[in-house]
Amino acid sequence: MSPIHFELLQESFKAHGYNMEVMPAIDKDAIDIGLRYVNNDACYPALIVVGQVLKALQSGDYDLNKVSVIMSQTGGGCRATNYIAFIRKALINAGLSHIPVISFSAQGMEKNPGLKFPPGLVNKALQALVYGDLLMRVLYKTRPYEKVPGSANALYERWNTKLKSDLHKAKLSDYKRNTYDIVADFDKLPLLDILKPKVGVVGEILVKFHPTANNDIVSLLESEGAEAVVPDLTDFLLYSAHNNTYNYRYLGGSFKTKWVSDRIIDVIELYRKHMKNALDKSDRFSKPVSIKKLGQMAEPIVSLGNQTGEGWFLTAEMVELIHSGTYNIVCTQPFACLPNHVTGKGIIKTLRKHYPLSNIVAVDYDPGASEVNQLNRIKLMLSAAVRNLEFGKIDNSLEQRG
Ligand code: SF4
Repeated sequence: MSPIHFELLQESFKAHGYNMEVMPAIDKDAIDIGLRYVNNDACYPALIVVGQVLKALQSGDYDLNKVSVIMSQTGGGCRATNYIAFIRKALINAGLSHIPVISFSAQGMEKNPGLKFPPGLVNKALQALVYGDLLMRVLYKTRPYEKVPGSANALYERWNTKLKSDLHKAKLSDYKRNTYDIVADFDKLPLLDILKPKVGVVGEILVKFHPTANNDIVSLLESEGAEAVVPDLTDFLLYSAHNNTYNYRYLGGSFKTKWVSDRIIDVIELYRKHMKNALDKSDRFSKPVSIKKLGQMAEPIVSLGNQTGEGWFLTAEMVELIHSGTYNIVCTQPFACLPNHVTGKGIIKTLRKHYPLSNIVAVDYDPGASEVNQLNRIKLMLSAAVRNLEFGKIDNSLEQRG
């Protein structure tokens, strides 16, 4: 889903003896295979996921008697819960029904006795996620302005290689030092003194991060002269856990679930602590806000009871971007995704009322969507962004810190 994060996550699993392979980031043929095996009223991310799995299994690269598929299962009201069923059905249709499909879910929706999550693996996975968020932040913030072409990517690659190796031991002392050193290195990277419009990328989680699904929107924005701002992946986990506070207060959810979820948030925040400190002390970067604060930002616009798909979290990300000085936003909308059309596209008008300078465009992604149409919509949004920047309506230096 997110190459920066998942390359590191893959390494965490390898360190525990799981020979895990994450599907490639750019995988255009997978869309056609997905169309062949998934009912075409399924959402676009479901189609990509099934297509990627089938393409890999039919490639001849794997011993089909010694391979299994692992997929996340959210347990919420949208199809992210049903991907497992989609994959199983596609495997049956492809004559591969003997391949086990493992559900990876925080709620333990299915029992998978062969897959264990010892504390060491949880530690490594959390480090990988936070490293991924950090690398994504510092890379996207510097690459559009680099003095020496290719220098930001080179620095990223150097750190990516080191982190992959460090994750095998995942010592907390290394984790802390690496976090501060990454920020220090990117703080020193020589940059041009130029101004570019900042464009936030939000939307359904897979379409937001997956370069195949969003036609590599980050590269597109950078090639069009903008800086892409993509909120952290870890926030989605925090959002899922924080929902239980609302559920306990208003929907008859149990206190035990809320208490456990709060502790999960505490643990994740413990891992984010060094990243936040390092970003806060730097001159170039800003730190993420807490999930509680994100909830407070979304509340005047949508109820926190909107918990299907990205739910209120999608609205919150847009408000947070605007508050931190990123007024231009692309909201990526997958075909056949109801929840995100409600809390994404559906609230843009209200956001404009609250924040008249906001410049938000909803872009649809599906197998038939013309890339030219997507590009035109993004270019239209960018032309307004550049105009606003030139007229001084939006001062990029006004970035508020967490
Ligand atoms: S949020 Fe939308 S796109 Fe994502 S799995 Fe659910 S229905 Fe599909």
